[in-house]
Amino acid sequence: MSEHARKRVFVTRMLPEKALNLLRSKFDVEVWPEETPPPKSVLIEKVREVDGLCCLLTDKIDREVIEAASDRLRVISQVAVGYDNIDVEAATEKGIYVTNTPGVVNDTTADFAFALLMAAARRIVEADRYVRGGKWKIPWGLMMFLGQDVWGKTLGIIGLGRIGSAVARRAKGMNMRVLYYDIYRNEAMERELGVEYVDLETLLRESDFVSIHVPLTPSTRHLIDESKLRLMKKTAVLVNTSRGPVVDEKALYKALKEGWIWAAALDVWEKEPTDPDNPLLTLDNVIATPHIASASYETRTKMAVMAVENLIAALEGKVPPNIVNKEALSIRPPG
Ligand code: NAD
Repeated sequence: MSEHARKRVFVTRMLPEKALNLLRSKFDVEVWPEETPPPKSVLIEKVREVDGLCCLLTDKIDREVIEAASDRLRVISQVAVGYDNIDVEAATEKGIYVTNTPGVVNDTTADFAFALLMAAARRIVEADRYVRGGKWKIPWGLMMFLGQDVWGKTLGIIGLGRIGSAVARRAKGMNMRVLYYDIYRNEAMERELGVEYVDLETLLRESDFVSIHVPLTPSTRHLIDESKLRLMKKTAVLVNTSRGPVVDEKALYKALKEGWIWAAALDVWEKEPTDPDNPLLTLDNVIATPHIASASYETRTKMAVMAVENLIAALEGKVPPNIVNKEALSIRPPG
């Protein structure tokens, strides 16, 4: 038996076969068989006995779980870009590497954000419900289902990182003026994509479409609240594919109901799954999707393989390519 075969890994959900086979070729692997996350008691039991944990963003890897881990636990490998479900500080204190899967989701997520933008602008989901509901009585109506044009309009991108800039590229193909706001100005990107840096208030006042691409952090929680929504155009469309809590849903409901903005398309929610009685779901000018922006066959497989490669690197004594807490390397150097 090789050195690696004795190492143990717990995977919190079934992964695509390609990723799982790769992992199984190296280690003893246990996979949680349910579609729902393993309960906390299971996580605590597993981190006491494994060398690597591979998890999803619906697994809450908090301080209590991390502190229960034995010294064996070397890496927590997340199959996602965002990792706000993991207490990274607690992991760093114990020298446990935390890794994510950036990059591979960019185009798939940007495609989806743009699909939501177009669908909301042209009321595609609402029109589909209308046809299926047997409400289509007049063959063609001059004033039927009027929407907002996209071509040549202004798009405001909040967070011009990997996904935000991929959205900007798509917008250029639609002849849009693109504004962005970020905590960091990126002049190279401004030159490459022809995007303009503005403050958040200007972005909200001037944009016809606003697409959010910031991570969830203490500084972005409820970044879009009542005061920000009041700055937006009455004809504006808000698209959120980042994290639900970046938008204050109560304020958004008010904004949509009272017509401060025109429509919203949400892939992410303050609570997931969102409650079926969430008032936002009663509004025709809301498009609702269940956190699927990165869900393409190709990308989900790439994400899982990338997470597995991070995990393998850590357990083989190397620096994982996508470590998010480099400080942990000095606490427990690789090797
Ligand atoms: P990234 O780190 O490349 O980009 C995020 C950008 O936001 C950076 O440019 C950063 O400077 C900026 N930013 C951070 N805090 C800010 C603040 N307070 N104000 C303004 N800008 C701020 O990340 P990414 O790969 O583009 O992903 C962005 C987020 O999208 C992820 O963190 C994740 O939560 C979300 N995501 C969602 C899905 C989905 O399925 N819906 C898929 C992938 C990613």
